[in-house]
Amino acid sequence: MLDQLITQNISEIHDRIQQAAEPFGRDPAEIHLVSVSKKQPDERIQAALDAGHRLFGENMVQEAQTHWAERRAKYDDLVLHLIGPLQTNKVKDAVALFDCIETLDRPKLADKLATEMAKQGRQLSFFIQVNTGEEEQKAGVLPRDLEEFFDYCVNTCGLDVRGLMCIPPVNEPSALHFAFLQKLAIGLGLRDLSMGMSGDFEKAVPLGATYVRVGTAIFGDRVLPVR
Ligand SMILES: *Cc1c(COP(=O)(O)O)cnc(C)c1O
Repeated sequence: MLDQLITQNISEIHDRIQQAAEPFGRDPAEIHLVSVSKKQPDERIQAALDAGHRLFGENMVQEAQTHWAERRAKYDDLVLHLIGPLQTNKVKDAVALFDCIETLDRPKLADKLATEMAKQGRQLSFFIQVNTGEEEQKAGVLPRDLEEFFDYCVNTCGLDVRGLMCIPPVNEPSALHFAFLQKLAIGLGLRDLSMGMSGDFEKAVPLGATYVRVGTAIFGDRVLPVR
């Protein structure tokens, strides 16, 4: 029953991505679905795995470990993205667990990640999170600081920066922020864009999203308490 529901939800999201992509001549195959499994019960996560899904997003390192540390060994094609803020004291655990960190946003973090990857002999990929709404409480580099920060990450730290990520302000049309992020990425010659969630991923697709991060539309309401 649960298996069926999750399988159906994932397939519906893929259909909706395809329908959003086609009028704009975009190839749906280049738009990846990151299933956001934070604060979801284990059986729902397992149902997504049983449905063959392998790309997941988590926003907290510790919670991600409980969901994924053991499963890594069992599913060798698993791909894990960190989509929440990363504190420098969690860098070691994050490098050990994740394949991609979408929330790179400050030089000190870039330094630590580079050092830790060398130590562990692991190569992660990265997105720079941009605070497109310039919100005080939100993580992400400010648009005016992006170019310098990108240069630092790539040329000083040697990080494999693939693209940009944003979380638009809740009270503004997200499409404006998606269009802005796309423009910033083009300016830097970056191809990947992580933008769009359950409520607005169809708006992100025409504006160049290559990764959409969808939680509740796949798994239902988040139920575990915030840790
Ligand atoms: C939780 C979260 C999502 C998924 O949100 P839904 O509305 O459940 O799809 C996407 N991106 C980030 C950064 C998140 O923290």
